[in-house]
Amino acid sequence: MARPLENIIRQTIRDNGPISVETYWNLCLAHPVHGYYITRDPFGLSGDFITAPEISQLFGEMIGIWIGEKWQELKCPSSFHLVECGPGRGTLMSDILRIGKIIPHLMDAVHIHLVETSPSLRDYQRKVLSDYHIIWHDCLSTLPDDAPLIIIGNEFLDALPIQQFVLKNGEWFERMIGLGTHDDLIGGLCPTPSCPAYIPTGHETEAVFEYSRSREHFILDISARIKHQGGASLMIDYGHDRSGFGDTLQAVKNHQYADVLKDCGDVDLTSHVDFGRLKSIVEQQNLSVRIQTQSDFLGRMGIHLRAAQLIRKSETIESGLTRLMHPDDMGVLFKVMEIK
Ligand code: SAH
Repeated sequence: MARPLENIIRQTIRDNGPISVETYWNLCLAHPVHGYYITRDPFGLSGDFITAPEISQLFGEMIGIWIGEKWQELKCPSSFHLVECGPGRGTLMSDILRIGKIIPHLMDAVHIHLVETSPSLRDYQRKVLSDYHIIWHDCLSTLPDDAPLIIIGNEFLDALPIQQFVLKNGEWFERMIGLGTHDDLIGGLCPTPSCPAYIPTGHETEAVFEYSRSREHFILDISARIKHQGGASLMIDYGHDRSGFGDTLQAVKNHQYADVLKDCGDVDLTSHVDFGRLKSIVEQQNLSVRIQTQSDFLGRMGIHLRAAQLIRKSETIESGLTRLMHPDDMGVLFKVMEIK
């Protein structure tokens, strides 16, 4: 039997014609009633995927150290806003604040903000972070502007939608989703050519290019805030440090790849983040930006020393360290973008 969201998407296509990958993505992940993130807790072994903070406490602790460093570089303001975008189960923030407690005076200065659209995940975060005063937001625009801010996000950018464009006979056409003869969802191309706001050079004759205005707007928004209020940002995700071509859109369910056009709202949709493009946007704002691999960043923050301390107490620390750092696991595919 078709899921309610599938019926909603079919009806939208019947009413208005084929929809873009961006519209489809928004409906699948963020539909206010049936969207993937709205209805569930997708993390962990029993969920669909596992993220770095859920793998090991080391991850959040290293980000806690980075936050302490940035706060000190800002000359330890007596008030600052710590903002996490897409905080999932609240595990990352909880590990960060454990480190925050050992940095003198930091906890007196911090105001904690979570940008989260999912009501079910907000409930989870409320329980995990019950010892702290937290302010929730639906988007960045309601964040206060009276003090510097430090904004972080792990696997947040990849949850924001993309459009896909395909090159045919020298022209770009947007990839659309329509209905097949049996009312099934099928992929196709928009009959009229259209170009995204940006395309890198050097493509092949039949290239696919993924463009995300949502990710660009988000990075522009945080850059504007940092310029205006002072502060820094750390965004971690899997992706490439130079813009490129290729279809990276994927659906994930129960730790396996799934069909992007099936089980709408019941599978996660993601794509690689084009950090090369986001870096150039930050540079246009005259801010400093650096992209490094996850293993370089965590190594620089002292993960090996901390792991050596903890390994004596727990064996899972060692396997977590390997997953976060190994080049064949998350160490190199995941990039850390630092803005200040
Ligand atoms: N950072 C967490 C969770 C990553 S999953 C971790 O590393 O485990 C993506 C998170 O972003 C979820 O909490 C999801 O509900 C949230 N999210 C997705 N789209 C969002 C949006 N447009 N605005 C705010 N939060 C969003």
